[in-house]
Amino acid sequence: MILYKNSVILQNMNIQMAEQDSRIVSTSERLEILVEFLKDQDFSSILIIADHRIFALHGEPLLKLLDTIKANSVEPMIIPSGEQYKSLAMAENCWTHMHAMGLDRKSLVIALGGGVVTDLGGFVASTYMRGVANVAIPTTLMGMVDAAIGGKTAVNLPTGKNIVGAFYHPKLIAIAPHYLNSLPDREFRSGLAEVIKYGVILDPELFAYLEKHLPAILNKNLKSLESIIYKSCALKADVVQKDEKEQGLRAILNWGHTFAHAIETATNYDTYLHGEAVSIGMCCAASASLEKGLVDKEFVKKQVSICQQAGLPTKISKDLDIDHLIDLMKADKKSLSGQINLILAKKIGQVELVKNVDRDTIKKAFLARL
Ligand code: NAD
Repeated sequence: MILYKNSVILQNMNIQMAEQDSRIVSTSERLEILVEFLKDQDFSSILIIADHRIFALHGEPLLKLLDTIKANSVEPMIIPSGEQYKSLAMAENCWTHMHAMGLDRKSLVIALGGGVVTDLGGFVASTYMRGVANVAIPTTLMGMVDAAIGGKTAVNLPTGKNIVGAFYHPKLIAIAPHYLNSLPDREFRSGLAEVIKYGVILDPELFAYLEKHLPAILNKNLKSLESIIYKSCALKADVVQKDEKEQGLRAILNWGHTFAHAIETATNYDTYLHGEAVSIGMCCAASASLEKGLVDKEFVKKQVSICQQAGLPTKISKDLDIDHLIDLMKADKKSLSGQINLILAKKIGQVELVKNVDRDTIKKAFLARL
């Protein structure tokens, strides 16, 4: 732990990519560290993108903090809350607003919010005048451990999620776990699914930590939160540094996600939060791994049990048509030529890509989770 001015920097790491560097800072105090960062940068103007919920809760303190920054203007752009606003229409609103504000190439876009806002804000920053600087301040656990890390930005099309986007890294990702105190419990648990994912795919120690400390984590004990956020960021940053554009290794982050995307699409994105679908998806992937003889029943039990302890769903609802779900998996943008390629597990902390998994295995995996 480093003392930095009156802020305590808990963790500080850099993601180094060929073209862009990104710095992740986690602080237990408010965001004074952000001001220190901005002071050194000389941005001409700053636009803060936040949804109305987040802005009502946390917007004013951020504006106040930015009072001390020399910039032509610091202005918020408040958008409605919800996945449907991660859209091209909303991106266009942002670009138009930025142009009307006179934002030039030396401007900065700060995205304050959950994954919807950091994905949209990052995309807007990546495209406005061919790219202006971006800072992400994630306010959900999903944002802190996943969405804000790794440079994937996107908006949805009516025909599919995250179809239009760019790899574009924020210059700074400022993580302040105190934001989680106002986050609804269901959203918090949804973010935990991704933390569980990192444990299963890469880190038996993290998995064991979760098994032991879930009650403290669910009580939002600061020390436990800092541990899981730091660990998750470090694991994701490491994968992204090795394979930024998902040519190989990065695909392991999709553990459970091909199942999850099908479940989300089949339920029109209005039944499950992303992390809830991922939780069911990870349990399906565990069952598929068992079907393929890669793991034993004990592994499946562990995967299901940790999700249950986190208060996450582990079963699909009986009214979902499994054949339709499998067809949706075939159409997933990560499936090639109609083949379903899945990340399957060998043990806690080790997974592998299995190509062209047969329909029967997938069907059995879904049936095991009915
Ligand atoms: P979200 O951004 O929709 O936020 C969830 C809700 O919580 C919103 O209503 C928001 O207003 C509210 N909220 C946010 N922070 C709050 C706080 N501190 N207190 C009170 N309310 C708060 O949901 P999310 O789960 O953070 O993000 C989901 C999005 O992230 C999806 O669009 C998904 O595609 C994307 N995502 C992207 C990546 C990536 O690598 N880029 C990874 C994972 C998820």
